[in-house]
Amino acid sequence: MKRTPLWLAAALAALMLALGLKGQLLTLPAVRQTAAHGQFDTNRAMARLRRILADERPHIVDSAANDAVRARLIAELRAIGLDPQVSDGVTCNSKSGTRTVSCARIRNVTATIGPAEGRHVLFVSHYDSAAAAPGASDDGIGMAAMLETAAQLRGRSLARPVTFLFDEGEEAGLIGARAFLDRSPIAPRVDTLVNLESRGVEGPGIMFETSRPNAPAIELFARAAERPVANSLTTDFYRMVPNSTDVTVFQERDWTILNFAVIGNETRYHSPGDTLAAMDLRSLQHMGDQALSLAQVLGSGEPARANGQSLYTDIAGRFLIVLPALAGFILLGLLILFFAGLGWRRRRGLGLAVLLVVAAIADAALLAWLAQKLLGLLREGDYWRGYPQATGIAVYVSALASSLAALALVRRTGTDRLRAAFWLVFLLLGATISFVAPGAAILFLLPPLAVAAGMALERWASGAERVGAIAAALILFVTFGAVLDLIETLLNYGAAWSYAAVAAILLLPALIELLPLLRRASMKPILASAAGGTLAAWTVAGFVPAYSEDRQQLFTVEYPWDETARRGRWMVDNDGASLPNGFTTAARWQRNVEVPYSTRRRWAAAAPAVRVPAPTVEILSQRNVPEGRRVSLRLRTSGATTISLRAPARARLRAVSAIGSSRTFGSEEVNSPYTLRCRGRSCDGMVVELLIGSRKPQEWTVIGTHAALPQAAQPLLAARPRFSRPQYNPDGSYAVVRLRI
Ligand SMILES: [Zn+2]
Repeated sequence: MKRTPLWLAAALAALMLALGLKGQLLTLPAVRQTAAHGQFDTNRAMARLRRILADERPHIVDSAANDAVRARLIAELRAIGLDPQVSDGVTCNSKSGTRTVSCARIRNVTATIGPAEGRHVLFVSHYDSAAAAPGASDDGIGMAAMLETAAQLRGRSLARPVTFLFDEGEEAGLIGARAFLDRSPIAPRVDTLVNLESRGVEGPGIMFETSRPNAPAIELFARAAERPVANSLTTDFYRMVPNSTDVTVFQERDWTILNFAVIGNETRYHSPGDTLAAMDLRSLQHMGDQALSLAQVLGSGEPARANGQSLYTDIAGRFLIVLPALAGFILLGLLILFFAGLGWRRRRGLGLAVLLVVAAIADAALLAWLAQKLLGLLREGDYWRGYPQATGIAVYVSALASSLAALALVRRTGTDRLRAAFWLVFLLLGATISFVAPGAAILFLLPPLAVAAGMALERWASGAERVGAIAAALILFVTFGAVLDLIETLLNYGAAWSYAAVAAILLLPALIELLPLLRRASMKPILASAAGGTLAAWTVAGFVPAYSEDRQQLFTVEYPWDETARRGRWMVDNDGASLPNGFTTAARWQRNVEVPYSTRRRWAAAAPAVRVPAPTVEILSQRNVPEGRRVSLRLRTSGATTISLRAPARARLRAVSAIGSSRTFGSEEVNSPYTLRCRGRSCDGMVVELLIGSRKPQEWTVIGTHAALPQAAQPLLAARPRFSRPQYNPDGSYAVVRLRI
């Protein structure tokens, strides 16, 4: 009987370990305790941020808390020796094409260093926070990085001005960026932008978005970055997700743009968990190092010479590979031709080998999807949230088992066939993905190039093909492994099937090289242990606690008061998990209830009637115009922090202007309602003028948002699950009233 050699088992275990530790590829260096002259001083940057955020209260746009943050920010700018300027005015903004317009009083803070003449380099972060969050990372990390960069830049000779913009109202609909474009005298003189953001509290500061064409931005980035973390896939990927930053507004201009963000541990983002204590100082240092060296490169006035579109990727966060896009696509095409030709020469048994490779990848995805679905029947909510590594390990073991099973199916297909088949499938997959996301092409070039080089050298140096194949497996691990880690972080470990497929792609080339060993061993015990391992790993994933102190459950308690029906209800927004005891004993809860102030459905239960002061909207004047009618409204918030007016689709809202700032409503989203939102104290008493397409009055919904819950909510708040906190929406009350406008 054949035995499984111990070192085969060790090799397989090493593969699993490598996958488990791939996140370490992008691990940041420890924080420098003493910064050399001219080096970003992380501790000093953090000390400033501590002073600015002080009591770490949430500080939304145009609130007393944000006034205090701004005052302390201005004091820090003055302490550095700068002369900060504050602009002030109500501004409205909308995302192009959407039917939501958001307005607020915006006070942007700017400070400029360098000569009076020349095109400005603009650094941007925002000093307001989300309503539920202290905003230490979002966007304190950007503020801290910019302040220290400004401090370092002072006294150096610059060839052109560098302006630091700390804007307000980013969280309320990117209004600060709009205010800057609309009103700042600096805006027409800017030609380069660096935006610093956060969607988490740890990990590298990833350069995830650029202006297009991207070559000038990438050339400047490559000149500056010492530890670059960036690839051209992320920009394409980011375009497909609904997230936005100030860059969404700024990209209207013909500027060279670099957008950075920290994205590790999204569970703290826009929640009370976004604290100074939770912020990883290494992330601040990474962000700060990049901001400072970019400020120097950009401030030197040496323009980028490259133009057109580039493909780029970092290698393990150490250096950046940049390629003209056209050259990359041609190389991809040549590699496909090379491997197609190779496949033709090795065509006996190739069809089966291709089938097997595809089956291994598809099977890994299917297995992970099925396992996560099955666990979802047994466990509620985002059960993988607390300890996502457990799900990660289960996914990798599933991918290993699927790949081994596929390889075991064909006993006679040679390693040379499998190599040809794998890299052909890999390249065709790369070409397909590149059609949707062209930036992905860069990730599909280097590994097959290494194999191809080995194969070409084989005729002179026996064994070169094998060396090339092993090198390819390693390069694949370093490039794709880091990307896999980013995908997992971005998806917050939700869609396990997608990264199971990537894990299989990472494992297969290594397993193909281990094939001679595998063939000498008895496959039955190997497959049995892989199957057992898969079952065991998913069982563990099924039993680990769903939430932890660090990674808590999303759990928001709300009290919407319906002024028209004179009725109040409790609402809970969570991940769908059942409510804890204290909730179910207090009331009868209904699942999946719609609310007028969000697209997410809530748990709902009857509540005692506690009147929340309702906002009012007074019609000041109304007149017919050729396009419909012009209506002038005065808003009264009755103490609400935000007032929202929602009009049905048939109202056909065209445009709004508030104190001189005008925006149009998008016409694309047919049948969706219109929303006009105003946030902050200045909304009370504000007069807005609307151009409405329909002359017929319609029933509108007006909603006032209040930060506090009624006293009667105390027992519920006390019964909130141990590891849970509001995220995205804060705990609070809503007053809802219907009006004919
Ligand atoms: Zn932000």
